[in-house]
Order: sequence, then C-alpha cells, then structure tokens
Amino acid sequence: MAYKVTLIPGDGIGPEVTLAARKCVEATGVAIEWDEVLAGSDALKATGELLPKSVLDSVKKNKVALKGPIITPIGEGFRSVNVAIRQALNLYACVRPAKTYPGVKSNYRDIDLVLIRENSEDLYAGIEFQEGLKETQELISKIESLGNNKIRPDSGISIKPISKFASQRIVKFAFEYALKHNRKKVTAVHKANIMKFTDGLFLKAAREVALEYEGRVKFEEAIVDNMSMQLVQKPHNYDVLVLPNLYGDILSDLCAGLVGGLGIAPGANIGDGMAVFEAVHGSAPKYKGLNKVNPTAMILSSALMLDYLNEKEAALRLENAVKEVISEGISLTYDFKTSPNDPQAVGTQEMAAAIIKKLKKV
Ligand code: NAD
Repeated sequence: MAYKVTLIPGDGIGPEVTLAARKCVEATGVAIEWDEVLAGSDALKATGELLPKSVLDSVKKNKVALKGPIITPIGEGFRSVNVAIRQALNLYACVRPAKTYPGVKSNYRDIDLVLIRENSEDLYAGIEFQEGLKETQELISKIESLGNNKIRPDSGISIKPISKFASQRIVKFAFEYALKHNRKKVTAVHKANIMKFTDGLFLKAAREVALEYEGRVKFEEAIVDNMSMQLVQKPHNYDVLVLPNLYGDILSDLCAGLVGGLGIAPGANIGDGMAVFEAVHGSAPKYKGLNKVNPTAMILSSALMLDYLNEKEAALRLENAVKEVISEGISLTYDFKTSPNDPQAVGTQEMAAAIIKKLKKV
C-alpha cells in the first residue's frame, strides 16, 4: 500500500528542490501518494493566509510531510511559517545530520555527526515584548521590583523559557536516536555556567536522562562557545549533539559549513508519531526559478523520510546514489565547483536526473 505523504513545495527555490526530491523518492520504487498543499507566499496569494489550516490538517492526517523552505517576511507580524508548523504539530526534535561525502568542497573528511535541536522553547518560543510598548514598561518594572536587575527603559525583551519536561524529552530523544542508529556518544551543549536556571536546568535534565543509558551510550557535556571551537578544530570527536533551540540553530549551520555548505545539509522535525522533513537551507529567493541550486539537501531529507518510514533499504540506496553522483564530480550544481560560473555545472533537475539514473541502475 502506498504511503500518504504531505508535500509542501514552499517558496523561492522550494518548488524546484522538492520536485527533484519527489522524483528521486519515486525512483526508489517506494510507493507514495502525495498530498500537495500550499504554504507561504503562494498560499497567501490563493487564500490570504501564509499557513492555511488545510496544511496542518494534511500533516496531522498523513503524519509525514516533505517540505520546501518558506520565506519569513522580515518585520511583519507573522513570526515564521516554519516555526509555526513545528509548534502547531509539536515537532519538538529537529534532527540535522552532518556528513562529508567524498567530492564535496570541504576542509574536512570523514565527518559524521548528528545535531539534535530542541524545537519548542527557548528564545524561539515567541515570547517577545517590543521596545516602547506599555506592557514592556510594565514587565521591566515588574522584573526590577523582583530583584536587583536594572533594565534600560528603551529595551525590547525576549523571554527564554526552558522546561525540565522539554529538556528531558529532547535528551531522551537524542539517546534513543543514538541507540537506534548505532551511535556511541551523546554530547549535551549548554551555557549553564551563565544561565543557571535555564541552561542549568537543561544540563541537569541531560545528566539525569544520561544515567538511564549508562553503559549503552556515552555521555559528555560541553559549553556552547567551547563547542563551537571544538567543532571547527576536532569535529571527529563528536557523534550526537543535543542542544536547546537557539544554540542548535546556530551550530547546525556551523556543522553544515563543516561538511560543504547548506546545499547538502538535510533535516527533519520530529514529534510523537509525526515528522516533517526539510533541508536546513532557506528559500534562497535570488535563485528562484533558475534551475540552478543544489537539490542534494532536499534529496537527502527525503532519504531521511524513507528511513523514518522504515524503508531503510530504499533510504540507503538513495543516499548511496547521491554519494556516487557527488564522487563522480560530473553532474553537479554550481556550488560544488571552485568557480560558481563554471560552465560544466548542471542544473537542479539535471543533478536529480543523474541521481535517478544511479537508482535505476541498481
Ligand atoms: P538561504 O538558505 O535561503 O540562502 C542563503 C544562501 O545559501 C543563498 O543565497 C545561496 O547562496 C545558498 N544556498 C541556500 N540553499 C542553497 C542550495 N540548495 N543550493 C545552493 N546554494 C544554496 O538563507 P536566507 O537567504 O537567510 O533566507 C532566505 C529566506 O528563507 C528567508 O525568508 C528565511 O527566513 C527563509 N528560511 C526558511 C527556512 C525554512 O523554510 N526552514 C530556513 C532558513 C531560512
């Protein structure tokens, strides 16, 4: 029986890269019935809403989605469609593997780590107070009355909630992920030395959860600033990283940089019994419609989706087909080349076609 999967093409380069990924998934032979729905600027034009309810309903029904990137309008009321989807569907774990593939431009070789980011709270919870508003002044006065803190009256305020529940849940997810994927070590990343009641709580939860896995998966802790340096100097020392939301966002781009850039960095947002797969990159609007960008991140995201659907053999075949095309160095998009104007670079759909050719040869 075919799997039912929601397909959200997204904005900018989203429709091109999701089309490439869809064709690759179909070429694996795994039967998928796609339920295509619009979110982002096309949805806004068609329905007046950036995130119509039908999108969330479709994912709730199908439990799995493949999603292209969606533009976040800067300075407008709506925070982010991407964050809204994760929050509405309670997709609390963001999984971002970072792997080097031979043939990719990178200063490193043989990196294979997975970053797991808490997706539901921290400074991304959306609790913000704008500078100058009456409620912001009230909040500032309240905070000042509760302690010895002085806050400038012309401040904006963002709140950083970190709970014991969500910290335990994400660390448990990281350990279970490690066990399931035969990984040896989980490193919890934090800034508990400074933020004792938020990151401190995250770290305490991590230590407690780690005890349940003693003898099965190794546990380490690292302070986020030191971790940033360690990742650049000794990325091979790490296996699975688990982080609160903001550090996870920043370090996942750092990890993407280690392995060759956003064009090849896949991702997944996972909750209990539901998952949305998407590349780490955004909608790169300047490349929209040019058939130019790298489809790899989206194709590898769809391989993660196949793995999640328990189509492990198809997932591995798809990843290996991508690996082969990259290592051959022929049918590659501009970003794999030394010069972005290299005339040998192929387009998005042509790179996907080369991957499909490998899949069909097996
Ligand atoms: P971006 O990732 O869209 O692009 C930054 C640069 O990275 C591009 O100019 C391009 O040089 C390169 N790049 C990105 N994807 C590539 C690919 N597949 N192949 C080759 N090169 C690629 O980041 P941005 O410009 O900061 O964001 C653009 C929009 O996307 C914003 O509105 C942002 O909010 C949104 N965004 C969405 C998501 C998401 O949907 N999950 C994630 C990040 C950003």
